[in-house]
This record gives sequence, structure tokens and C-alpha cells, in this order.
Amino acid sequence: MSQELSYPCIKLSHIVIVKAPGLLPMLYTVRELADELSMPEQTLRDWLLRGAPHIRDRLGHIWVNGQTFAAWVLSQRKKAPRSRLKPGEGYCMVCNRIVMVLHPIRRPSTGRLVYIQGVCPHCNGKVSRGARRDSAQ
Ligand SMILES: [Zn+2]
Repeated sequence: MSQELSYPCIKLSHIVIVKAPGLLPMLYTVRELADELSMPEQTLRDWLLRGAPHIRDRLGHIWVNGQTFAAWVLSQRKKAPRSRLKPGEGYCMVCNRIVMVLHPIRRPSTGRLVYIQGVCPHCNGKVSRGARRDSAQ
């Protein structure tokens, strides 16, 4: 199964997005970096497993370059609007925000994807999103 690889679900908190650009071009330990970003160390370790840049020294200790990590956060952020949608949510292009989709209709699309079309509760505009066919939405 390779679908996890093509659908990363790193959830960046706002504080990480705000703080990451302030990281220095130096090597941090996982604990130091977690402290800098005010995030749980375990979550950071999880990100490293999912592809966040890091190096391992000869003793097996993990080091993270602050600047490289900040660049990675930025690259994850670009994908965020799509992966951050929860079941039942869509992105309204008019309101420029994530909204709960009203009256969703599932339309078959290509491959494993379905297309969900509904109505924005704020502006009554059309909202659509893609979803996986096997998802429960
Ligand atoms: Zn709207």
C-alpha cells in the first residue's frame, strides 16, 4: 500500500508556522527544536519519521538543521489547505476559507477519487472538493 506516501497528513499548528522561520541555521536536538517550536517532542519525532529533514550522527543521535527544517515546514504548508480538510468540509473560493459543505452530492470522478459538490453556508456559493472513494464522507 503506497497511499500513505502520496497523501502526507502532517498537521502544522499555527505556532509552528509562525516560529519555524525564526529557526537558526544550526543543528538542534529533537528536544531543543520541539522546545523552540512549542510542540510535543513526540509529534516532532513523528514528523521526522514522515520525512522531515534530519541527520543522524555516528552514535545514532538525531540532529535537525533549523533552516532546513523551516524550509520543509514551508513546503508542507503549501499542501495544507487540501490535507487539512476534515470530513464534511470544503474550501470556498469566494469566502477564501474552509467551510462545512451543505447538501453535499458525491459525483464519481477519475480513479479512486470522487468529487463532492455542495453549498457554502456563508455565501451560498458552490463548494467542491475531491475525496477518496473509500472514505466514509
Ligand atoms: Zn462561501
